[in-house]
Amino acid sequence: MIKDERGWLAPTYERLTRDWAQLPHALLLSGPEGIGKADLALDLARLFLCDNPSGPDPCGACTGCSLIEGSIHPDLHILSAEANESSLSAILQKHAERYWLDRKGASAKKPSDQITVDSVRSLNESLSSTAKIARSKVAIIQNADNLNRNAANALLKLLEEPTPNTYLILTSATTHRLPVTVRSRCARINCDAPDAAALRIWLAGRHALDEIALEGLSQSGLGPLRLDRLVEKGQDQNLLALWHNLKKNLGRFDLAAMMGYCDQLGPELVLAVLQRFVEREFRARVVAGCRSDPGGERWTRAELIRAYYLLGDARERLGSALDTQLCLESTFSQLETRRRQAERV
Ligand SMILES: [Zn+2]
Repeated sequence: MIKDERGWLAPTYERLTRDWAQLPHALLLSGPEGIGKADLALDLARLFLCDNPSGPDPCGACTGCSLIEGSIHPDLHILSAEANESSLSAILQKHAERYWLDRKGASAKKPSDQITVDSVRSLNESLSSTAKIARSKVAIIQNADNLNRNAANALLKLLEEPTPNTYLILTSATTHRLPVTVRSRCARINCDAPDAAALRIWLAGRHALDEIALEGLSQSGLGPLRLDRLVEKGQDQNLLALWHNLKKNLGRFDLAAMMGYCDQLGPELVLAVLQRFVEREFRARVVAGCRSDPGGERWTRAELIRAYYLLGDARERLGSALDTQLCLESTFSQLETRRRQAERV
């Protein structure tokens, strides 16, 4: 449950469930990646599908609650891109498998990073019948920005003409990628990440990490659940090496080193951390109130903003880039060129 395991989301859960019978049929949970929005959605589903809820809490003992824990509730539907599998809890994963249509052929092709129109049509079909055992039906669409254009259009029908007693809960860290038509039909709920101090305490409670590691990980800008998975996979040292390298060299974007980090940690993660680093540098300059940073580096605020957008653009292009290597090399080269130009000023 959120309250015990993801304390930073507890206030949002409490706010949503205070008068939960009045909640609209479509919710959009927005907030940074890796903070547990899908877990929050699952907790709401537990409540909506419980036979004997006690105030804002599911009873944990009825048939509905047991079926969710057993990952076989017939009125709980999860849509998620198959490529997101590793980021889902076991319960979410098992429910999501029903809609991974491609997997039925057991082909060895790369898992799709999109939610397809076929899976939304299949969801439409499931929701159009009455609830199997509960009073309500719940569909969670995790990372709804993974809906491709046709899938988003198919979802519109559900949002515009909701089937009776149905809750749709969308989650997204990049809501701007969702079509306005989808966004505008959902009640948006902003979910906060824990602050650095709370994140340190949470990580320290789960892993044997020293103070330096806790400091670096909590500053990296990655969500708690993502950091948790990195530590479990033994990749935290690679992330710390990247973070400390950036701090030590203050934005020296050495191509070979950066490509090495991309190999170890994955390009999307490296770009996210770089963007976070640039953002921190910018904030430091704003706080210092001067054009050059307190440590004497020559990146100006304007250059940092440009670098921030360059990295954001690279993150956007990464998913669709025909040649990931080329996209990364071009980004790192541009950053290094700008750094050198800045040094000559
Ligand atoms: Zn129950």
